[in-house]
Amino acid sequence: MDIKQNICPKCGGPSEAGLCNICKAKELSWVTYDKRVQCIHCPTCGSLKQQNTWTDCHLEREKLIEEIALNAIHIHEDVCAISIVFRSYDPSPNRTSVNVNIQGKLYGVLVEEDCRILILWSKEQCDRCSRYSGGYYAGTIQLRADGRKPDEFEKDRALAIAHRHEEEVQEMGERLSFITEVQENKDGVDIIISSHNLGEAISKSITKELGGKITRHPKLAGEKDGKTIYRMTYLVRLPRYQKGDVFEEKDRYYEIRGIDSNLIKYFDLQDAGIKNTKDEPKGRFIGNVRDSESAFISYITGDTAGILDPKTYETKECIIYPWIEAVEGESVRFLRDNEKERIVFIG
Ligand SMILES: [Zn+2]
Ligand SMILES: [Zn+2]
Repeated sequence: MDIKQNICPKCGGPSEAGLCNICKAKELSWVTYDKRVQCIHCPTCGSLKQQNTWTDCHLEREKLIEEIALNAIHIHEDVCAISIVFRSYDPSPNRTSVNVNIQGKLYGVLVEEDCRILILWSKEQCDRCSRYSGGYYAGTIQLRADGRKPDEFEKDRALAIAHRHEEEVQEMGERLSFITEVQENKDGVDIIISSHNLGEAISKSITKELGGKITRHPKLAGEKDGKTIYRMTYLVRLPRYQKGDVFEEKDRYYEIRGIDSNLIKYFDLQDAGIKNTKDEPKGRFIGNVRDSESAFISYITGDTAGILDPKTYETKECIIYPWIEAVEGESVRFLRDNEKERIVFIG
C-alpha cells in the first residue's frame, strides 16, 4: 500500500489531496441561473430590446426561447462535456416556462441539474416601427428625366436599386434607415427615405446605372436636442436619351450603344458603322431596343426579307441589311416606325 495515499476528510474515500473528486463536485454549485427573465419584443417586426437597444431577431420562436434560457444560465468553467435539453410550455399567453436539463462532467464525475426559467414576454413598438408608422422621413428622392418622363424600365430599376440598398443597410444594422414610402406621380417617382445615408447611396447608384445628374436641396425642418434637423430633396434627373434608344434622322436609323461621360456612341443600323461624338441625338425617337418585337423570317431573296408580322400575322417584305445575319426560318428583332410605317431591324 502506498503510504502517500490520502483520505477524503468528508467521505473517507481515497483522495489525492483534500476532498475527493466526488465530494468536490458535490460541494461546488456549478450552475447558477436567473429564475425570471424579461423579454421585450416588437409585435410588428419581432425585434428584441436589450438594455434599451433594439436589434432584429432572425430566430424562430423555439430557438429564441432556448437562446433566452441559455443567456440566463451560468455554468462553472470546470464543467466539460456539457449537454443541454430544453422543454418548454406556455402557462399563459405572456409567459413561457422553460425546463433546462444540463448534464456534464466535473472533475471526472457526472453531474446533472434541472433549471426552471420563466420568460416574461412583453410587447413594445420598436424604434423602427414607431418611426415607420409615424411616416418619419429625412428626405425624398425625386426620379425625373430631362425633357421626358422616366419610363417603366427606369422606374423599375430605380426602385430595385432603392430596395437593394435598404436591405443592405438593414442587414448592416442601420435599423433606422428604410424606405418610408414610394409615390408615383405624373412626373416620375418619389422615394421617401428615413435617412440621409440611404438617400445619398440610392441616388448615386441610380445615376451610376441609368446616367443623369443629382442635385440636392436641403430644407430646414426644425431643431432637436440642440441639433438642426434638415430634410433633403435629391433630384435625380435622368438623361434625355438612354442606351438602346433608336432615332431616325434623314431617313437613316441609328441606335445609342453607350454614353460615356459626355461622349455618345452611335450605331448605324444601315451599315453597322460606329460613331463617337459629343453631339446629342437629333431626329425622331422611334423606341428603345428593350421594347423590340421579334418576327419569324419566312424567306430571304437578295436584300429583301419576308417576315411574319407578329401582330397582324401578315407577311411583310422589308429591306434587310447585310450586317444583320438573317437566316430563313429563324427570327429577327425589330422596332416599328409607326410614322413611316416601317420595320426597323435591330439585329
Ligand atoms: Zn469524498
Ligand atoms: Zn418593430
